[in-house]
Amino acid sequence: MGYEFKCKDIGMDCGFDVKADSVDELIPVIQVHAKNAHGINEITPELFEKVKSAIKEY
Ligand SMILES: [Zn+2]
Repeated sequence: MGYEFKCKDIGMDCGFDVKADSVDELIPVIQVHAKNAHGINEITPELFEKVKSAIKEY
């Protein structure tokens, strides 16, 4: 059991996906990816909500 985030679930044309044991572990990985791959330096509250709603348990 864990949590999974797929970039395409927030509407990005991107094949990135990440799995972790907890949401707390997932967020920093997503932040690094957003910065490196998409040039997003700051996750706005709006984007954060979008990211959170795209995180799924598996
Ligand atoms: Zn991406």
